[in-house]
Amino acid sequence: VEPDLAANAQLTLGKEQSLYLAAVLRKNVDDEVVLFNGRDGAWRARITSDSKKSVGLELVEQIAPQSPSSDLWYGFAPLKTERLDYVIQKATEMGVSTIQPVITRYTQVARLKHERLVANAIEAAEQCEVLNVPAVPTEISLDRLLDSWTTEQGNRKLILADEGENVSSPVEAIAALRGTPVGILIGPEGGFSDQERAKLRAQPFVVPVSLGPRILRADTAAVAALAVIQAIIGD
Ligand code: SAM
Repeated sequence: VEPDLAANAQLTLGKEQSLYLAAVLRKNVDDEVVLFNGRDGAWRARITSDSKKSVGLELVEQIAPQSPSSDLWYGFAPLKTERLDYVIQKATEMGVSTIQPVITRYTQVARLKHERLVANAIEAAEQCEVLNVPAVPTEISLDRLLDSWTTEQGNRKLILADEGENVSSPVEAIAALRGTPVGILIGPEGGFSDQERAKLRAQPFVVPVSLGPRILRADTAAVAALAVIQAIIGD
């Protein structure tokens, strides 16, 4: 819903959303639901009519977003389907503001169904009532990413989840970034190539960080990294 709607406004949902409410959530007339616009507007609404084709709603009151929107950018090398869905869902649940697929040399997936990624993010936001659906841009190359971070990201720092030598322990490195907008970049199952790693680490905005002594699967690393960052930075 658009945030400028007034209380008592009447809405009729389309077929897909009506089916979701009636068949999946098993909602009935007089039940209440939360509607949100994916940015900052959320409303409590009462169901006034419920056919599977179109559900009628009356807005009751606007509500503040429960989950403060974060400014946490999340970049990752796309994984194969079900693990890709998982990563989109967990990143959304953890409140990231942007989910950016980055194609690297060892990325396993050639072509992404962008609309599926967006639909996954919206569904994850609906399921866990995260009111700000993350932006999911189309995939870009690592070089294009580095160009954009050099020219467009201001003072944002890019936390590079990486193993091997010369990586900082996350606690000190991330604590030192408190108050600075950050992003986190997770590599593919096959890791970054030596050239990619050298190119990344040469950037002044990149902070290589270890996630511990064990090699984590990329989807595990995503959740671990986001959890550590949010625990330390509180974003
Ligand atoms: N053999 C690969 C390599 O040498 O990089 C392992 C890649 S790992 C399966 C996938 C991604 O998860 C890595 O590129 C990295 O971004 C992240 N990752 C996994 N374990 C990590 C750790 N202990 N510290 C930092 N990042 C890690």
